[in-house]
Amino acid sequence: MTAPNPDQDPLARFLTTDPADVGCGEALALLDVYVDRLLDGEDVDARYPGIVAHLRDCGPCAEDFDGLLASARADRER
Ligand SMILES: [Zn+2]
Repeated sequence: MTAPNPDQDPLARFLTTDPADVGCGEALALLDVYVDRLLDGEDVDARYPGIVAHLRDCGPCAEDFDGLLASARADRER
């Protein structure tokens, strides 16, 4: 029995998470740091690739990220 080939099976591809993905727990734990660095203009894609991968694959965390980013931005403009 072999694993389904993601290239031939769209559902398997959908279910296959990026191996770099850190998962919800770690992403949420680092999210405020990530947002801070992002607003500082740091290269977060290079520094936190696991979080980038996770936010791309996880809707709920991406929403949390959007909210956090919006409020952090508003804080800085105050
Ligand atoms: Zn998540």
